[in-house]
Amino acid sequence: MKSLRARILLLLVVVGIVPCIVLGSTILHSHQEKSIERYISQIQNQCTILSNQLESYSYLSSNDSKVVDAELTQLSNVYNGRILVINDEFRIVKDTYELDESKTVVSEDVIRCYRGKGTVIYDEKNRFFEVTTPVKSNKQVIGVVLMSVSTDNIMESGGDLKNICDLIIGTMAIIILIIAVLLSTLMVRPFGRITKAIEAVNEGYESEDLCENTYTETALISDAFNKMLGRMRVVDKSREEFVSNVSHELKTPLTSMKVLADSLLAQEDVPVELYKEFMGDITEEIERENKIINDLLSLVKMDKTSANINIQSENINELLERILKRLRPIAKQHNIEVVFESFRPVMAEVDEVKMSLALSNLVENAIKYNKENGWVHVSLNADHKYFYVKVADSGIGIPKQDTENIFERFYRVDKSHSREIGGTGLGLSITRNAIIMHRGAIKVYSEEGEGTTFTVRVPLTYVV
Ligand code: ADP
Repeated sequence: MKSLRARILLLLVVVGIVPCIVLGSTILHSHQEKSIERYISQIQNQCTILSNQLESYSYLSSNDSKVVDAELTQLSNVYNGRILVINDEFRIVKDTYELDESKTVVSEDVIRCYRGKGTVIYDEKNRFFEVTTPVKSNKQVIGVVLMSVSTDNIMESGGDLKNICDLIIGTMAIIILIIAVLLSTLMVRPFGRITKAIEAVNEGYESEDLCENTYTETALISDAFNKMLGRMRVVDKSREEFVSNVSHELKTPLTSMKVLADSLLAQEDVPVELYKEFMGDITEEIERENKIINDLLSLVKMDKTSANINIQSENINELLERILKRLRPIAKQHNIEVVFESFRPVMAEVDEVKMSLALSNLVENAIKYNKENGWVHVSLNADHKYFYVKVADSGIGIPKQDTENIFERFYRVDKSHSREIGGTGLGLSITRNAIIMHRGAIKVYSEEGEGTTFTVRVPLTYVV
């Protein structure tokens, strides 16, 4: 697992400590360079003085000046270096280490020095440098002084500075580490609070809205979480309502049956006609109970999330014809005219059972909530993407304030009227769920007392 806190900590440590180390070593390095430069120019000066002395004492030709010898030894000791005096035949006249006297030197820097300019060679790896200075007489180079000196003592003096640098860097590192630990803990704290709040909801505590506005990101998370919580509350409330509605709806026919049965039992010598009448009523209530249970089962099957959808290519014209053929006799009882108008033949990918149920609920309602001698007009049309079914009637209409609610489970505009004509209040929710399952849409337009029109739009091809 990748921890945000560990990452912030690492980032702070890297950003804080690395520059310290880089800065420290740069300062140290430049200090050492400067020291060496100074040291070299000091040696160069000494060499120039020495070369003047060599010239004035004619050391290169006679080689027996005590003063110069003493000077050479002193210089060699002071700077802990080796001094070679070379004449114009490239022969070593004097070596303070007394190793190579009388030998011939032909090195590049000595030759260059004979041309009149002193040279400096710094060998960083072997920690020494070599300085050559020409000895001039009447502007003529008559010899060379070569001095090689180790840089060890400069490095040693730099060692103290390095220790101080290391100490400062170490202290800084500890301080930065402490700050980084504190900061990273502080920075991830809002996320910890969010996790706690979500866990509290998970454990079932009635939790309040989350308000974690420390960062824009946490504010966005809080916002999304609150929306989800809101949805959960709505779902929970509607589930509770549904359960209580179901119990109530199932209880109503049972109560009626019990009243009927009790009143029969309470009377003695009940005439057969009354028995028959009451038993007829009881059968009606049983049928009603049955219808509610069937509708409930259809509704459960029509659950938007359920995957048991059986899509096939169907002829929608024929599907509507079948529905109307079944419902026309019922319409005829109330002298209601049912007209079907199709603008074109339509083939679409639908679940035949579910789509039939959805559309027949609409036509059934158009007949049920109609007036004597009324009409129901069903039309079918399509474009390249959707097919459209319109079910219009000349019925009682739906009051404006109720149109929003009629798709809710068990919602009925006029409970007693709906009950009288065998409504359960589940028909339109079944229809809407079926249409949504097909990724379609349903709308209602109604004028109270004049009629109602339902329009349905469903894609011709089923989209998963
Ligand atoms: P029900 O089983 O009661 O018919 P629905 O869910 O099918 O339940 O309809 C909900 C309510 O919407 C009905 O009770 C009725 O009041 C109203 N309604 C539905 N269709 C129509 C319509 N075509 N004309 C008038 N009212 C309607």
